[in-house]
Amino acid sequence: MNDHLRGSDMFEHDEDRLPMDHPRVLDKPGEECGVVAVHLRESADVAAMVHIGLFALQHRGQESCGICIASGDELRVEKDMGLVAEVFTEERLATLRFEGSRIGIGHTRYSTTGSSLRFNAQPLTVRSNKGIIALAHNGNITNAKAIRDRMLDEGAVFQTTNDSEVMINLVARYSHLSLEEATARVMGELEGGFSVVMMDKERVIGLRDRNGVRPLVIGEGQNGYVIASEPGALHAMGATFLRDVAPGELVVIDDHGLHTRQVLAGVATPCAFEWIYFARGDGVLDGVDVHASRIRMGETLADEAPAEADVVVGVPESGLAAALGYARRSGIPYDIGLYKSPYAGRSFIAPSPHLRDQKVKLKFAPTGAVAGKRVVLVDDSIVRGTTSGRIVQLLRDAGAREVHFRVSSPPIRYPCYYGIDTAARKELAAASMSVEEIRARIGADSLHYLSEAGLARSISLGTTCLACFNGNYPAGSPLDAYDKEGLEELTMAR
Ligand code: SF4
Repeated sequence: MNDHLRGSDMFEHDEDRLPMDHPRVLDKPGEECGVVAVHLRESADVAAMVHIGLFALQHRGQESCGICIASGDELRVEKDMGLVAEVFTEERLATLRFEGSRIGIGHTRYSTTGSSLRFNAQPLTVRSNKGIIALAHNGNITNAKAIRDRMLDEGAVFQTTNDSEVMINLVARYSHLSLEEATARVMGELEGGFSVVMMDKERVIGLRDRNGVRPLVIGEGQNGYVIASEPGALHAMGATFLRDVAPGELVVIDDHGLHTRQVLAGVATPCAFEWIYFARGDGVLDGVDVHASRIRMGETLADEAPAEADVVVGVPESGLAAALGYARRSGIPYDIGLYKSPYAGRSFIAPSPHLRDQKVKLKFAPTGAVAGKRVVLVDDSIVRGTTSGRIVQLLRDAGAREVHFRVSSPPIRYPCYYGIDTAARKELAAASMSVEEIRARIGADSLHYLSEAGLARSISLGTTCLACFNGNYPAGSPLDAYDKEGLEELTMAR
């Protein structure tokens, strides 16, 4: 075997584990992950392209990031905990620049399975008789634990606690098949919601689960093809959007160009939360304009839950488009009622309830637009309700006479098993409280959520996953076999 694996992929020791030692307290569904793949006809600075793509997908995960680049027989991986700008200094990026490089993948991560440890950062790599394979994925493989248990019984060794490693090891195990054939075979064995990019020294591969729960798009530039979680990354990398990867489709890009095959048939049920909150507002996913659908959510909310008010205010950033839609439909003036500090993000970790209160004040501040007014406050979702209550109080402290809370999604009552961290069920306000009880908790004068039917109309797709609202999990997986904690404990004990 002439392949070489270099770079920061080689950490395996305890001191390389960088625990995020704060409890994860979700006020919003947690971001998921972003993936990028590039295959160029002529050599260029692939690392810089992937880097730009990851910047464009930073909103999909801020815990860790990584880039893998192929050149000749070598694959080099650099990855670490932190934001793309923190991890990829110019010096570190330079270690990924090779003479003749044309192929690379990248990943930005928010862990949904696998702890927030450095060794769980992606891309992951494995040596096989097919050479070194690298993989990065977004979403969850819900039967990963069952497959992993079986493979452990057969003598397999795992180095990480995330479900991506199950997939890459399965691919490597089909030693008699090509990478493409092995990947197609493995797609049929996996359940859940996921989008994946893979590479070896000659090709990149992209695939989407049979229900297309997580997004994946293909673009073309002057010098080759790119695959990414969202169209915004294609745009940033200088590529033009070609199309979405279809649910159950396998895409291979090599020196013969782009070829695809429909490996699995399934009912498309993309994640509704991509349109509600996650995806960038500049994109079109599965044919549906994200920004326009958010406007429609606000308009529908105004139809379903009108209010007597003087001003409509959105919770920045994700509530703004729906607030605009609510204002347009209701005729109530729209204004900027909350300022959001662009610098108070994940870097401020509040250790106590009192300081968490300060954190909300650091992040949000009311403007003069709410003083003396009856305010309609629009947000995209309520998870625990704690931050919502603090924002209502901020508006009251700033002189708002009434605060009518409107939510542009239905109540979140069930956890997500497909790559979005919606918090444990016991932490979800709507899982155990009525709408009236939540209203009382957040201190609003009234509270209404968008209906499921209203959400479906606003997104205007045939079907979408709505499982966190209604508990109907679409991806056909035996979810009772899904055991996130068990998967992590199993591996940590090794
Ligand atoms: S359960 Fe909710 S968050 Fe998860 S994929 Fe379905 S719609 Fe999206």
